[in-house]
Amino acid sequence: MTAILEVRDLRLWYGTARGSVRAVDRVSLEIDAGSVLGLVGESGCGKSTLGRGILGLLPEGARADGEVLYKGRNLVTMSPRELRRLRGPDLGLIFQEPMTRLNPLLRIEDHFRETIEQHDSKLTPKDVRRRSLDTLGRMGIPPTRFRQYPHEFSGGMRQRIMIALALVLRPSLLVADEPTTSLDVIVEAQILRILADLKENFDTALLLITHNLGIVAEACDRVAVMYAGQIAEEGPARDVFADPKHPYTRELLRSTISLDTKVLHSIPGAPPNLISPPSGCHFHPRCPDVMRVCPAHDPIETQPDPDRRVLCWLHGPEREIPDGGTAPLEREQIAVAEEA
Ligand code: SF4
Repeated sequence: MTAILEVRDLRLWYGTARGSVRAVDRVSLEIDAGSVLGLVGESGCGKSTLGRGILGLLPEGARADGEVLYKGRNLVTMSPRELRRLRGPDLGLIFQEPMTRLNPLLRIEDHFRETIEQHDSKLTPKDVRRRSLDTLGRMGIPPTRFRQYPHEFSGGMRQRIMIALALVLRPSLLVADEPTTSLDVIVEAQILRILADLKENFDTALLLITHNLGIVAEACDRVAVMYAGQIAEEGPARDVFADPKHPYTRELLRSTISLDTKVLHSIPGAPPNLISPPSGCHFHPRCPDVMRVCPAHDPIETQPDPDRRVLCWLHGPEREIPDGGTAPLEREQIAVAEEA
């Protein structure tokens, strides 16, 4: 398969009164045409900033460095005008809260007409209607609802309408940022099925941002686990879930609730402040496997399998680990070292 998106060494940061927030720190990723990449991690790990940064939708004052190559063209250095032209027909975004994105005064029909006409003024009104109804139909919304207003739909239907609005221009790449937040589990499963079928129906590549690992296991070809602005682990979803290599992935999976859950597990502590993250491996204050090397040196990315990568000293490379580095480090020692 060919990568439709290649993110290389991307850094995204923005200034605050307390200092510079390094929301995305040297991230590299690839998404193949027609495939689904899940981006997971706790809140505050930089997932949404990365998703928006890829589409060039960062807040005012944010800075970007590195490459986001979409079909070989670098979006980071592209002019705002060129980017706007790509959004819609090439790059789409599904937001978390559909109600805040749909205009309550406009019928669904008008939302579709406006979206299509902004990018393709050559289509006749008949073609616009046909294309809109076809896309809505694929989301399970019947033509009889086309002239209704957003408030006449349930939350799940509104989210399906938002997905249809993002897909009506047939984008090659879609970023879905927590698309099932605030939906109940049954509706969540419906949305999930729709997203998983995107590649069959539309050949669209999807970056699915979520903290729901169940969704990723069902819908994604690959998964990237993000922690403190970095990719801790990345690989085929099935392999990562069956045999997680990074302690953070392992802890995340242990914290997932399923029908078999007997004891609730939570990862001790909280994700770090991205203005001044912990030294060395940013996960070290919470890691059950922390070693002497971890707070002192940034881990080096390694490939435990040809198709996987992990950012953790547990996986070497052995020759790079400074002397005595692999000796365990107790939590008490971390606290003393950090106070000093
Ligand atoms: Fe844990 Fe060290 Fe690996 Fe970080 S580098 S995840 S602290 S073992």
